[in-house]
Amino acid sequence: MFNFNSQHVIVTGGTRGIGAGITESFLKAGATVVATYSGNDEAAQKFKDHLSSFGDKLILKKFNVANASEVEAFFSDFDKQFPSLEILINNAGIRRDQIVASMGEGDWDAVIDTNLKGTYNMTKFAVLTMMKNRYGRIVNMSSVGGKLGLPGQANYAASKAGQIAMSLSVSKEVAKRNITINNVCPGFIETELIKDLPDEQVKEYKSQVPMKRFGKVEEVSHAVLFFASKEASYITGATLDIAGGLNA
Ligand code: NAP
Repeated sequence: MFNFNSQHVIVTGGTRGIGAGITESFLKAGATVVATYSGNDEAAQKFKDHLSSFGDKLILKKFNVANASEVEAFFSDFDKQFPSLEILINNAGIRRDQIVASMGEGDWDAVIDTNLKGTYNMTKFAVLTMMKNRYGRIVNMSSVGGKLGLPGQANYAASKAGQIAMSLSVSKEVAKRNITINNVCPGFIETELIKDLPDEQVKEYKSQVPMKRFGKVEEVSHAVLFFASKEASYITGATLDIAGGLNA
């Protein structure tokens, strides 16, 4: 669909689920991709083996996006290894659902730290690198949950709404440098992130989706590649729902 030849892409959480789909789509479109993850070495290696035909165009890096010094060290290596960074996809994310009255501080902090602070950490260093070439595309993996606010997801909804709010500020800061930042908001997408939902809840959620089904990873990656393309040059601070009609 789009041509990313000679472009360098970072996809956080790019070895599993939606991120893995995005990594694969960028590779097929000609990019070199650094796919990051935080701990699941087995899944990362399996993913690398699956895409072995792309050789050294796929690089895996393991670090915690919530940890500022690990992120700084990652970018320091990245800047030595690659001539430029064209695209950052802030995809890494977690859920720790619980009604607010029972939510422990640890679950609040873990979700905000990974989903929102992780987006800040990665965006800060990416912008510094992108500014040198006066070009960049950043896409945040937000969620319709950040706009609808599902029960049990106060931490998750706050983190996802925070990504959108953050992008509005950053978009205005970097627009003159030809850097855009946009958000996609998937609804329910079939990945391990939502595998723990009880059958009854899955049935209930599907009945609420006007298309009466959950989405596929490819249905998210197509939208991400559009925002990341050169063609999306006049779009910034925008948010696109990919939710089968389940819109806020
Ligand atoms: P997933 O299958 O659970 O994969 C999550 C990925 O993020 C993994 O690669 C994981 O690494 C990585 N990750 C988690 N915490 C990290 C950290 N602290 N530092 C670095 N990497 C970390 O999740 P998914 O369903 O693909 O979701 C991806 C994104 O889409 C998330 O931001 C999620 O909120 C959003 N989203 C998902 C849905 C859905 O229905 N699935 C809907 C809306 C939005 P390891 O493999 O090492 O664990």
